Amino acid sequence: MTTRQAADLSREAEFPRLCREFKTVSAMLRMYCRAHHRPGSAGLCPACASLRDYARRRLECCRFGESKPACVNCAVHCYKPDMREAMRRVMRWAGPRLLWRHPVLAVRHLVDEHRA
Ligand SMILES: [Zn+2]
Repeated sequence: MTTRQAADLSREAEFPRLCREFKTVSAMLRMYCRAHHRPGSAGLCPACASLRDYARRRLECCRFGESKPACVNCAVHCYKPDMREAMRRVMRWAGPRLLWRHPVLAVRHLVDEHRA
């Protein structure tokens, strides 16, 4: 396994693909949390916020970097089982809804999934 430097998602110009993925995940989490946990003005409840931070760290450390496949197609399952399960629940709920709320992100996400 090769070690590579972690990506820095605050440098969007250098990591456009990872940043887009993180934006998509964040958008899905916001929709899911708002509908299920009613976090009020905070944006995300503590559980969803920690899931988002976890997702960000996973993306930053993704060994494929900018050439990463969509997570569903990835051979390396880098999430811990409980985080993976939590994220899958969010994706299953928010995936179809993303199409209406954030059509551009959703279509790009689908394109990423079917590229390869
Ligand atoms: Zn929540």
